[in-house]
Amino acid sequence: MKKKHLAIVLSNLKGFEKPKLELEQYKTPGDVAAELLWLAYSMRDIEGKIIADLGAGTGVLSIGASLMGAKKVYAVEKDEAALEIARENTRTLGIDNIKFIHCNVSDFRTKVDAVIMNPPFGSQNPKADRPFLLKAFEISDVIYSIHLTKEEVRKFIEAFTRDNSFKITHRLTATFEIPAQFFFHKKRLEQILVDIYRFERSELPPYG
Ligand code: SAH
Repeated sequence: MKKKHLAIVLSNLKGFEKPKLELEQYKTPGDVAAELLWLAYSMRDIEGKIIADLGAGTGVLSIGASLMGAKKVYAVEKDEAALEIARENTRTLGIDNIKFIHCNVSDFRTKVDAVIMNPPFGSQNPKADRPFLLKAFEISDVIYSIHLTKEEVRKFIEAFTRDNSFKITHRLTATFEIPAQFFFHKKRLEQILVDIYRFERSELPPYG
């Protein structure tokens, strides 16, 4: 499958019906998801691997990983309405290797080969991304994650990964389009910049 084709398939998946503001439910845009998955695939982190998608929402990243040849994907999501949409998206494509886990990411305890995630950016609840990062550090040696392209966020990610004995191996910047789904969006389509990261467990002790 080509990256463009993957982006289109993922863009066409069903989105959140009633996105919940407090959970920062934005469907990951197909092109951003494809960018993350392409990097992961080229780093040999997807094919034949066990993956966890933390805050799986409508299932975009989980489905993309499955299409790229993951052996098994855990789609972890605390909102049942979102999970129902993810299940529907999976059925539409005839995918059967995604296991849906209805829980808070903090309660998920299975070790995996790689985590892929688009956590809340923390614009509603500052620090909402922390439990996602901490869980990812706990269950995997390789992590792909999406965060805002902002100086203070970059500084935080750099320090937080280092303090948890991870290192940043890749950082790609992409445009993330959010449709006007919440009252505070004035434009029809809001464009923000995001960084797609790859983190890997580092042998070095923090500050070493
Ligand atoms: N990649 C997803 C979107 C992620 S948006 C997609 O394309 O649809 C972030 C998701 O994390 C939302 O679905 C939200 O419900 C979920 N979420 C937020 N906090 C959570 C938590 N503590 N535990 C589990 N899921 C959470």
